[in-house]
Amino acid sequence: MNVILIRYGELFLKGHNRKYFEQVLYKNICDALKNFKFSLKKISGRYELSDYDENQENLIINKLTKIFGLHSLSVATKIVTELENINEECAKIDLQGKSFRVSTNRASKIFPVKSMQMNADLGAIILKNNGSSKVDLHNPDIDVIVDIRENGYTYISTNVVNCAGGMPLGTAGKGLLLLSGGIDSPVAGYFLAKRGLTVEAIHFHSYPYTSELAKQKVISLAEKMCDYLGHIKLHIVSVTHVQEEIHKKCDGDFMITLLRRMMMRISQEIARKNGVGALITGESLGQVASQTLQSINATNAVVSIPVFRPLIGFDKQDIMEVANKIGTYEISIQPYEDCCTVFLPKNPVTKPKMDKVLKEEAKLNIDELLQKSLNSEEIIEI
Ligand code: ATP
Ligand code: MG
Repeated sequence: MNVILIRYGELFLKGHNRKYFEQVLYKNICDALKNFKFSLKKISGRYELSDYDENQENLIINKLTKIFGLHSLSVATKIVTELENINEECAKIDLQGKSFRVSTNRASKIFPVKSMQMNADLGAIILKNNGSSKVDLHNPDIDVIVDIRENGYTYISTNVVNCAGGMPLGTAGKGLLLLSGGIDSPVAGYFLAKRGLTVEAIHFHSYPYTSELAKQKVISLAEKMCDYLGHIKLHIVSVTHVQEEIHKKCDGDFMITLLRRMMMRISQEIARKNGVGALITGESLGQVASQTLQSINATNAVVSIPVFRPLIGFDKQDIMEVANKIGTYEISIQPYEDCCTVFLPKNPVTKPKMDKVLKEEAKLNIDELLQKSLNSEEIIEI
């Protein structure tokens, strides 16, 4: 019988939390495959997925590779653990001339033959039917994995598909991602979701200075992120009045610094209301004027919850590669205005001095602006 054998990685490190992590992972797999027919069984150190429609095998594998916490998977033949069965199954393998090795994993210590011996014996059996194939222990084209588990079954596979790795989604609390529409922020959200954080998102717009299409773009980005995240609660908030007030009352060169400080305050409020423990941004040190150490300090100063900046040490090129991998890049490069590009100063300050920032900010009624933004909140469940 063909099954999909699913391996999970880092969970082993988690000691007494392991059971909980495994339960979350079980649920995450079921959620990701909710549109498919299948059975899922936990066996020691693995999940076994069976009773699925073979025509849907590739679709199912594609879903599984995007589940955080899973390490790799193989389509495997499941047989009752007996030397004769294993030999017989290995005799059927057709390598089509490719090089190979046998990797026996004897999780069940009851099985009498040691792994090294199994590798040698099975290698000989496979060679008998694959005259043109060579054994290559270090860099084989095909790794024949013979996984002798404790449940009385052996799983034999000739393929390994890597999965997303990381920690199961939902095991690390909740974070609120400041999602702009650019290339960086979706990637930042991806990296923290990979550490198990459930991600909600907040987007700021300056309608009517920014278009309806800009908002639609962010919704598309959030939808794409759901390949990995499953579900996103997206908060959409207006900062039009904030930008207008700054434009009217303050030194224009401080537009971005002051706007950013308001975004952080608004985000912190929405985080509190939603039981979220951290903010996430796509900032990368020195990338633009608002991402110098001084600018980051100025925006960070108005919040007291942690702000995660997973891309802080990344080059743009590296960020773009990840964006491509997770499928957000093509959406991000659509040319719609971000709210920060409206009212853009000619000479944005790159090293804002705190006393000057505070002096400019004193011209604004922060509480009123904050409240007005909170009142504009629209929530979309994606
Ligand atoms: P990105 O590609 O993520 O837009 P960027 O290089 O354009 O990044 P900035 O525009 O300076 O950089 O934004 C830095 C970070 O601030 C973004 O990664 C995002 O987390 C947040 N941010 C910026 N604009 C918005 C917005 N309109 N709504 C929500 N968050 C925003
Ligand atoms: Mg941006």
